Amino acid sequence: MKVSVLSSGSGGNSTVIHSSGGGILIDAGLSAKKIIERLNSVGADIGSIGALVITHDHIDHISGAGIIARKLKIPVYIHKENYISSADKFDNCEVKFISDPFDAGCFRITPVPVSHDGTANYAYTVESGGKKISHITDIGVVTEIVRFRILKSDLIILESNHDLEMLKNGPYPWFLKQRITGNLGHLSNVSAGDLVKETYSEDLKHLVLAHLSKENNDPSLAYDEMVKVKERNNFNFRLHVAKQDEALEFIEI
Ligand SMILES: [Zn+2]
Ligand SMILES: [Zn+2]
Repeated sequence: MKVSVLSSGSGGNSTVIHSSGGGILIDAGLSAKKIIERLNSVGADIGSIGALVITHDHIDHISGAGIIARKLKIPVYIHKENYISSADKFDNCEVKFISDPFDAGCFRITPVPVSHDGTANYAYTVESGGKKISHITDIGVVTEIVRFRILKSDLIILESNHDLEMLKNGPYPWFLKQRITGNLGHLSNVSAGDLVKETYSEDLKHLVLAHLSKENNDPSLAYDEMVKVKERNNFNFRLHVAKQDEALEFIEI
């Protein structure tokens, strides 16, 4: 399999995963035009993308979802409650409700319920050809099912949203700071490190830090925090940081 995070952060999220049998998109939180530009920028085979999978109904994950699904003529896999809350986005789309697990083309996809403040909130593990990718963003607090379901991943895309000090001293109003650090908010750099520490196995070859806050984080802080975890524990994976404004090159596993 190979993965490219096309866009990551509160300005829009989308990831493409390919295997020899086809491809899927996870989330489409930027315009269809931009998603196609980003897919082209990494040389993705757009014609082989066969499904769009939605994590939850926040606008940074679904703003372009209906348009890209209609344009590529692909089904949208979405939790029923998220469909109900945002049905107007998916007019004339082929909608399939997610189950636990489900198959999309050659991918076996397992939803992982996460604690967040969308209508219904899911991380996913995606398996194909004996490899496993975990996609975990928009998660306020790590629960046991998350730790369990991501075990033995070859690649993890993991939210590393904020640096606690930057958030504390930053410009956001109090209620927003409470929302972000709360159990239904986003994962801090330190909490992302804890999850890796708790679940690491030698299968893990690549870790991609994602959904970094522009206001309350800095890519170098998120990176350094995870390098600390890696070095202290002698972990052996390559570390990447996803970007808001450009796609990451494909990572092969
Ligand atoms: Zn988000
Ligand atoms: Zn969200």
